[in-house]
Amino acid sequence: MHRWKLTVILVLATLTLAAAPAEEPAPLQGFSANAARGEREWEGKFRSVPSPDNLRDYMKRLSARPHHVGSPYDKQNAEWMLSRFKDWGWDAHIENFEVLFPTPKERLVELVEPTKFTAKLEEPTVPEDPTSGQHDEQLPTYNAYSADGDVTGPLVYVNYGVPEDYEQLERLGISVKGAIIIARYGGSWRGIKPKVGAEHGAVGCLIYSDPSGDGYAQGDVFPAGAYRPREGVQRGSVMDDTLYPGDPLTPGVGATKDAKRLRLEEVQTITKIPVLPLSYGDAQPLLAALKGPMAPASWRGALPFPYHLGPGPAKVHLKVKSNWDIKTLYDVIARIDGSDYPDEWVVRGNHHDAWVNGAEDPLSGMVAELEEARAFGELLKQGWKPKRTIIYCAWDGEEPALLGSTEWAEEHADELTRKAVAYINSDSNGRGYFFVGGSHSLERFINGVARDIEDPEKKVSVWKRSQLKRIQDAGSPEDRQEARERPDLRIGALGSGSDYGAFVDHLGIASLNLGYGGEDGGGIYHSVYDDFYWYTHFSDTTFVYGRALAQTAGTAVMRLADAELLPFDFSNFADTLHKYVDDLKKLLKTKQDEARELNKEIEEGVFTATTDPQKTFVAPPAEEVPPYLNFAPLDNATDALTQSAQRYRKALEKANANGGAALAGAASGPLNALLVQSERKLTRPEGLPGRPWYKHEIYAPGVYTGYGVKTMPAVRESIEQKKWKQAEEGILEVGRILAAEAALVNSAAEELEKVIK
Ligand SMILES: [Zn+2]
Repeated sequence: MHRWKLTVILVLATLTLAAAPAEEPAPLQGFSANAARGEREWEGKFRSVPSPDNLRDYMKRLSARPHHVGSPYDKQNAEWMLSRFKDWGWDAHIENFEVLFPTPKERLVELVEPTKFTAKLEEPTVPEDPTSGQHDEQLPTYNAYSADGDVTGPLVYVNYGVPEDYEQLERLGISVKGAIIIARYGGSWRGIKPKVGAEHGAVGCLIYSDPSGDGYAQGDVFPAGAYRPREGVQRGSVMDDTLYPGDPLTPGVGATKDAKRLRLEEVQTITKIPVLPLSYGDAQPLLAALKGPMAPASWRGALPFPYHLGPGPAKVHLKVKSNWDIKTLYDVIARIDGSDYPDEWVVRGNHHDAWVNGAEDPLSGMVAELEEARAFGELLKQGWKPKRTIIYCAWDGEEPALLGSTEWAEEHADELTRKAVAYINSDSNGRGYFFVGGSHSLERFINGVARDIEDPEKKVSVWKRSQLKRIQDAGSPEDRQEARERPDLRIGALGSGSDYGAFVDHLGIASLNLGYGGEDGGGIYHSVYDDFYWYTHFSDTTFVYGRALAQTAGTAVMRLADAELLPFDFSNFADTLHKYVDDLKKLLKTKQDEARELNKEIEEGVFTATTDPQKTFVAPPAEEVPPYLNFAPLDNATDALTQSAQRYRKALEKANANGGAALAGAASGPLNALLVQSERKLTRPEGLPGRPWYKHEIYAPGVYTGYGVKTMPAVRESIEQKKWKQAEEGILEVGRILAAEAALVNSAAEELEKVIK
């Protein structure tokens, strides 16, 4: 619909480019003109090194056998990568941790009434896929950190199994007390499903992949196409890492050999009820045996029968038992010492462990990181040296619970708190658009990087392509206008779901998560079919987006490592915070309006008059209307931050004048140290209400969303959970944190103003 508009923009863009003198590239944030010239030259050399053929070779090697935590090939992969880092001139070692990692001992799902059926719980070999038949080494299908249990009960279909689904069930008069629930994947992080189910009295939980999500409703199934075949199963962790991620036995400290450990019975992050994942092949007979009311229209999936809710007459027997063993992790840690500021660290990571062969998740990202490491090795040979220390990490144990990154971050917390400038993460990568999430003080910086990376298929910058996509997808005229006119593309905040968690949420280290995707759909996630055969037939088959990721992440690392003045910017951050505060106000207003409306309808008799007397319907009880909250402390603090951010930006513009000679002076003073601490300031030692491990007051994964982020969580989640006193305290606390941040940015502006004079 907006195609003609796109054409106009492209033409204008071309004209602008033609008008600018080609030899004067845009200034580099944090670099004087002289330094920027040198930096651009080295960056150009860096970006010419990564090779798609190498990425393919690494992936083939690393995905040749299953390599989950504790498997022989997991260790062999770590040792192989260690040798590569050393070959390429890095100072590298393997760091071990000892963690709790349960593996399946007994798994049983059977329909015992009204007919008999036993689930296969197996993913068959696909003849054309050479690694799909490595059954001896594959982890069986299961959900790690499920409680052990042997339960029988009537079955209830709960849609995605999120809190709102239970409100609907309540209206329909359906209880899950004593029942085994069956939820479909999607709608939330998987661990939320057994958690909320148990809170409502369920005794067991099955999670299945409905073909509507990533099966035949989306496209041809593997091996004819990329999507989930009938017997494909999504493994995955169900540990409640919204409380704390990492080794369940050693919260807050590194899981070294002699670390103090909790007893298994003391652990709070293991599920309360047994859980198993199912393929749609195995789920079909169970769901088809349900009767009771029809599921609401939006709950129905793509299986060929009417979706009923139960309870029963389907009755299910579920048995889960794990080996609760301690396994060794192999984190590969490699470094290049900085020439000027060795005690300022730029940290980069991707995980190397998988559920099975893991070509897409995680190797598509891991191989890009390896190719960056090789490219830096090439640059070292040519005489380049980073000003700051660069640390490259290949994490083990991400899949079970972000184990390798969390334990390493906890073990080195003191040093990281003092030295880490930023953490740059990647994970699965594929064809398509550049995506990035992270700390908003780095939003301007990463926009600058994306402008310098070329999209391998469209030959425009990946920034431009993202911008045009946003214009096309904009949900409102305002959003479209913003996509066109805002100098920087907005980046999303980070929740959970990959290895940045410990860095940003626990230690307050500014973090970014990078990747490409959107044209790489499929349904092999966490199954035996996520392997080299699938990836090289259906995803980034030529590995050019793997190269783009290496170029993007490597350029970001290099720029952070070489900048005279660290490229943090607080104007975009302040702008984002204003949005978050507005969102909170809207959230409260919506809750008030909804409660008032509900109470009115109850009074009017709406529910009594409109329900079908032949169907069960339980009218909702009247609700207390939420009180007004005083948001002034947040408004004042975000305003203060806006002002100090403007002051800092203005000072920076002055410092950049005349070739930016003042920047070098600024870099030798205390300014960079202040900037390093700017994200740290957003944390509080006491952490969030009820979950002290999470210390960041602006970003956290939601208690009931898992991967999904909650911004200003101490306020937002208190409003959502109707804890009004806690919400008011949260507002004061976040207000204090942001006022302190504004003061820090003011000091930074002052330092900068000193050197300009
Ligand atoms: Zn992953």
